[in-house]
Amino acid sequence: MAIATEVKPADYRTDIHPDWCPGCGDFGILNAIRQALAELNIQPHDVLTVSGIGCSGKTPHYIKSYGLHTLHGRSLPVATGAKLANGELTVLAMGGDGDGYGIGAGHFVNAGRRNLDMTYIVFNNGVYGLTKGQSSPTLRRGDKTKSMKEPSIQDNINPIAIAIAAGYTFVARGYAMDVKSMKDILIRAIQHRGTAIIDVLQPCPVYNDLQTAEFYAGRDLATAIPRVYKLEEEGFDPRVHDPEDGDEIIAKKVAATARSFEWGDRIPIGLFYQVDLPTLGDGFAAYRPDAPTTAMHKQAHPGQDVTRVLGRFR
Ligand code: SF4
Repeated sequence: MAIATEVKPADYRTDIHPDWCPGCGDFGILNAIRQALAELNIQPHDVLTVSGIGCSGKTPHYIKSYGLHTLHGRSLPVATGAKLANGELTVLAMGGDGDGYGIGAGHFVNAGRRNLDMTYIVFNNGVYGLTKGQSSPTLRRGDKTKSMKEPSIQDNINPIAIAIAAGYTFVARGYAMDVKSMKDILIRAIQHRGTAIIDVLQPCPVYNDLQTAEFYAGRDLATAIPRVYKLEEEGFDPRVHDPEDGDEIIAKKVAATARSFEWGDRIPIGLFYQVDLPTLGDGFAAYRPDAPTTAMHKQAHPGQDVTRVLGRFR
């Protein structure tokens, strides 16, 4: 039996050098993930990271754990299957805003209503960075980044409001350039029992010259006060205290949704909404009380010795 040792962020480093552009917010998210997993003392072999396509899709390559770099918009269904097969894994699905809110929009909505115990991290920079900066679903109407010929004529979606409506039981927003608060919210998301989503404001200095680190820091404002502020520092209460109380759930969803539309001189980050509700795993256990609860690979499968097959990959 493996002896658990104290995990350090460096234990989650791989030999692969991240090839993101200098100043990219992805570095902050990567550091926050490594720090959060280490602080929770989760062993790397107990973690699975799953990504879609885009700059953020490379993240599993840089985290020393099990990892899957999947197809565009498909990190959530793959993560769902993996978590159902092995409920003992800490599963982190991740991808960009184009990947998750555009191509993978159907999976984004339906993962919320299932409430499987996993975490979804969205690197939200308003553009498709890997393919030269086309506008993504979160870029606002009238915005024209330096990679666009004309301003966007489409409205943006509000991922926080959609996540709350879809049924996510932990809905938060992070900021990639504030690694400590990003790490703290990630720890809470991983500890949450149910599907957690963190929409992360992530500057892309190469293609998005509007929502930059300077913009979030409020450098263009007469007051020079940072736009990004923490909900918890203003006494905002995101938690549903009685999950049986439908009125409280509606009131908390309404308050969180109203806050999610705040965008201008002030932009809230932190936890918008949290409720403890039965997970998809609980549903399966009730439906099939005789089903084994251990991970699939630990169950006995008479006549299905896969040793020879696995031996080919050694
Ligand atoms: Fe980061 Fe943008 Fe470069 Fe992609 S293109 S690595 S999002 S700075």
